[in-house]
Amino acid sequence: MFDIQKVRDDFPILGRQVNGKPLVYLDNGASAQKPQVVIDAIYTAYAEEYANVHRGLHTLSTIATEKYEGVRAKIAHFLNSGSEDNIILNSGTTEGINMVSYGWAAPRMQAGDEIVLSIMEHHANIVPWHFLRERLGVVIKWVDVDSNGDLDPEAVIAAIGPKTKLVAVTHMSNVLGTVVDVKAICAGAHAKGVPVLVDGSQSAVHMPVDVTDIGADFYAITGHKLYGPSGSGAIYVAPDRMAEMRPFMGGGDMIRDVTRDTVTYNDPPMKFEAGTPGIVQTIGLGVALDYMMDVGMDAIAAHEADLSAYARGKLDGLNWLNIQGQSLTKGAIFSFTIEGAAHAHDISTVLDKKGVAVRAGTHCAMPLMEHMGVGATCRASFAMYNTTDEVDVLIDALELCHDLFA
Ligand code: PLP
Repeated sequence: MFDIQKVRDDFPILGRQVNGKPLVYLDNGASAQKPQVVIDAIYTAYAEEYANVHRGLHTLSTIATEKYEGVRAKIAHFLNSGSEDNIILNSGTTEGINMVSYGWAAPRMQAGDEIVLSIMEHHANIVPWHFLRERLGVVIKWVDVDSNGDLDPEAVIAAIGPKTKLVAVTHMSNVLGTVVDVKAICAGAHAKGVPVLVDGSQSAVHMPVDVTDIGADFYAITGHKLYGPSGSGAIYVAPDRMAEMRPFMGGGDMIRDVTRDTVTYNDPPMKFEAGTPGIVQTIGLGVALDYMMDVGMDAIAAHEADLSAYARGKLDGLNWLNIQGQSLTKGAIFSFTIEGAAHAHDISTVLDKKGVAVRAGTHCAMPLMEHMGVGATCRASFAMYNTTDEVDVLIDALELCHDLFA
């Protein structure tokens, strides 16, 4: 059974005050807080078990390597990838998508080839494709969301033409909270022979993810949103795509043999993991995933669905609040502006005075902001440890903003 008080007690930072008020942390879409088990694991890794991985034969290196490598299997299990060999460890989603851009897409694309993106992508799933536009003359085809913030899978599939080489879409919008039917997109794209990259940065923390069932060719996750350390993450790469991909970075660990004239690469996935990795960050991510799986992804999703329904009801009651995105598949992420009120930054500052942490700005999603016709929004994004009481604190603080500014 999901025990919210037990979960809250596991996150020490939730006990602190901000500006004399109990912290209400609603900036989880940017980065989630860390449970004590993760903090302890980081401490232990440095205080008792630290050494570089893979290369050493001594005891500490063996322990560190076992712990580090053990995370690959945990991620494979967490994503149901079927094998740890299709999990590439990295520093997060940004690195994962750049790796696909440089290592898979660039060598197989030329001027006039197309990449299909949705308008609600994070810059991490836009800028690496702009690089290909700038360097190779690749064309980015955009698919809009409708007025509810929904992305119609059929519209994405319809945008795929003979020159399309890749579809890259988010599983969950970091601005609107819309959960996208990526399984339908994968099925439709594959029927046209086109691979799909899914940005799972936001989704993987809120719901069970099964990359095998989705049928994604690439699925990127980022550790710091999964209650793990920043600088950790992974990308699932389907076996066929893995075989096609060239290494993005060269260096130690990703090679088998180097001579003056030749280089032989290691087997995947290590072929794509050059240099000393984020050892302790990755170990911390493994503990965070264990923690989430112990709580239970279904239980987390159910708690957040209740929280989201409660928040939606309350926020909808504020008739001066403009909420962006009304998708029926919306998760617990709410972006809003206050009619006639000051800039989102001012709203965020007032909320902070009440101990409420939200994000304000363009959320690394400028094309979406332009599409919506808004300069900046405030975003309240929830996590497994948030409560309906905290929603009430948010609502009170928003009413204060309305009184002050509107
Ligand atoms: N994609 C989405 C949807 C995100 O929300 C984020 C982070 O905000 C990213 C990608 C980038 O993740 P990271 O900065 O951890 O690489």
